[in-house]
Amino acid sequence: MKSRIGTLLANIAKRFSGLYSDSSSGKRALVHEILSIQVFSATLVGFLAIASLYWGGQWILQDNYSRWALQWTDQLNELGSPLYLAEDQEIRISLDNFVSRYPEIDQVVYYANDGSVLHAVDTEDDPDPVKVLSEDQLRDAIAVVGANEPYLMTGGFLDPRQFNILAPVWVESIPDDGLFGFDPINTEIETKTELLGFVNMKLDFVMFHDRLLSNIRTAVFILLGLLLLFAIYGRYALRKALASFADLQLPIQELAKGNLDVKFEPSQHREISDIVEALETTATALSERDAQLRELANHDSLTGLYNRRRFVEVLRSEVLEVMCKNRSSALFFIDLDQFKYINDACGHAAGDRLIRKVADELQRSIGRDDVIARFGGDEFAVLVRSVDVAGARAAAETILKNMRRMAHIEEEQLFHVHCSIGITMLSGTNLHHDELINQADIACREAKSAGRNRLSIFRLKKDGSKSATSDVSWMNCLRDALDNDKFEIRFQPINEIDSGETTHHELLIRIMGEDGKLISPDAFLPSAVRFGLMTEIDFWMIRHAAVAYAKYSTPENRLQFSINLSANAFENDDLTGYVQDTFEQHGVVASDIVFEITESLAVRRPLQVDRQIATLRDLGCKFALDDFGTGYSSFSYLQKLQFDYIKIDGTFVQDLPNNPVDQKMIRLIAEVGREAGMRTIAEYVRNVETLELLTELGVDMVQGFFVGRPTKVPKTKATPISLTARRQRLSRK
Ligand code: GH3
Ligand code: MG
Repeated sequence: MKSRIGTLLANIAKRFSGLYSDSSSGKRALVHEILSIQVFSATLVGFLAIASLYWGGQWILQDNYSRWALQWTDQLNELGSPLYLAEDQEIRISLDNFVSRYPEIDQVVYYANDGSVLHAVDTEDDPDPVKVLSEDQLRDAIAVVGANEPYLMTGGFLDPRQFNILAPVWVESIPDDGLFGFDPINTEIETKTELLGFVNMKLDFVMFHDRLLSNIRTAVFILLGLLLLFAIYGRYALRKALASFADLQLPIQELAKGNLDVKFEPSQHREISDIVEALETTATALSERDAQLRELANHDSLTGLYNRRRFVEVLRSEVLEVMCKNRSSALFFIDLDQFKYINDACGHAAGDRLIRKVADELQRSIGRDDVIARFGGDEFAVLVRSVDVAGARAAAETILKNMRRMAHIEEEQLFHVHCSIGITMLSGTNLHHDELINQADIACREAKSAGRNRLSIFRLKKDGSKSATSDVSWMNCLRDALDNDKFEIRFQPINEIDSGETTHHELLIRIMGEDGKLISPDAFLPSAVRFGLMTEIDFWMIRHAAVAYAKYSTPENRLQFSINLSANAFENDDLTGYVQDTFEQHGVVASDIVFEITESLAVRRPLQVDRQIATLRDLGCKFALDDFGTGYSSFSYLQKLQFDYIKIDGTFVQDLPNNPVDQKMIRLIAEVGREAGMRTIAEYVRNVETLELLTELGVDMVQGFFVGRPTKVPKTKATPISLTARRQRLSRK
């Protein structure tokens, strides 16, 4: 965007720079172009004016010539009439005088009425020969006697300067008898016309014409002079007027280069002032946009924290610092635990509010020199400067502690947000920023796998390989386990507290490690989720649970199995059909199977999940709500989705004897469960005190190492163990 505006401004600048230069670029100068248009128009108008002057002048002259000619003809007619009556020298003299008064009259010839020459007056040194009138001329001249225009005019059209006028000379008289009948009132008196002869006059107006032409010539010269003056002055005036444009050239070039602090000179011309104002507004808008882009490029829009891009820059410079100053710093990768809950329960906007709150809390929890960023989603990164491992651990503990204390209320529900922190140290040779982020991420995943709400420190193995097995190798391992049945099932008993009887077994999935040790699902399930293998694992479990049921359950001693199902399994439309077919194939009584689903799935419960749960219920299967209390801790949805069992999350049970809050919580869950017709199961029961407390708090069933460790084979016979017997067994230990 900026570069496009830059190019535009550069082009404008170039145009301004071409105002004066007829440069080698071949582009025309603006001054010259405007000037040439004006000079061309002025020349055109000037020539049109001269042409109309010439034609107009000629027309006026010609009109005047005719008038003068007629006037002179009349006078010659009058003056010459006596010539026909008597031979009078005086008349001839007066005729000569008359002709000499008008230099335009070349020749006057009086003819007798038979066409013979009576008298000729020539004014030129080189007189024209006097011709007698032809018969045609005589006839034509006689024809105009008494007419309104009693003359014949020839010439004037071919050569507008020369005319020839031939007019009859006649007298009119009233007849003798007419004198007596004269009536002054009656104007129509009959007159008698007597043709005396003819007068021919040659006229030449060349002098007038020459004068006209010389005047026009002068006008043309004056016009050309004025045009030249106009061009010179116009060029000067235009240059002066456009000088302000040229002044814009440099600032615009600067603007085009990206210098947004450029100053424009104010102009006295309104148009240029407007342009300057527009350019200044553009520069201001550009610098604001620049600031916005910088902000966007470096900051996360939701929290205002640095974004990943900016954080990586900071991390890179910290790497250099660490190298030069020979100290160490720490990088934390923080991911919120079960963050999706709040999104699902209260919507994305609520999730955003919580992210902002978490960002504030994290900011408060870190040191002044430390840098925090949001990487996206519910992931944050913190650079803790100048710390060793112990210092980094302490800083992470502070964050964990503050986060544990943080509570957030949305739609009258209380949310506790915990986080998992992966730590890696910037020290020694461990200094590549990408690698560091990767390491902190891996450590964070380890913290998740180990149960969340904790920290994990990334350590390189002695051979330099990474402590965590990479996702890719997990994927290969899981694929292999699915294809070659390499998963193992362990059966953990769940006992009724009252009777001490093992009524159920939870089926736990494991993988046998290369060292012969069993690997727990916390280690590989996150990779399975990432690579989309969860559905296959769930289906594997259903199939092998059915096989185990067929193997160990008998009509006399029926076993009940609890199977964990992930959200991915419910996304598969084949789930219910697969369960039905498998159960039929292996003779599984559906009511002996409890499917455990997590709180998050129970709350999210898209329509499709609802439908599948209903179908499985119709088959006779039961449902347990797993890990209750970790997410929403909301009882409202318990009633909406009918569960048979509520499994209280182990975190409430682990430290039960020492934690009165957990005790209150469990009592509440047990009461609500009872009211809602659900049985409560407590996990992680590791000692008799916990068992006694759970009994007291009203919990129905228990699971944990104290009750029974996971085994390869389920207990086929229920062995009721009373509390007293347990107490004794424990005291023996
Ligand atoms: P875990 O304990 O394994 O981290 O589980 P989790 O529920 O926190 O899930 P995870 O970290 O894998 O995913 C984070 C979720 O945060 C995914 C997405 O639904 C949600 N999320 C991602 N970006 C945003 C955001 O900008 N706003 C909100 N409200 N939610 C987001
Ligand atoms: Mg998370």
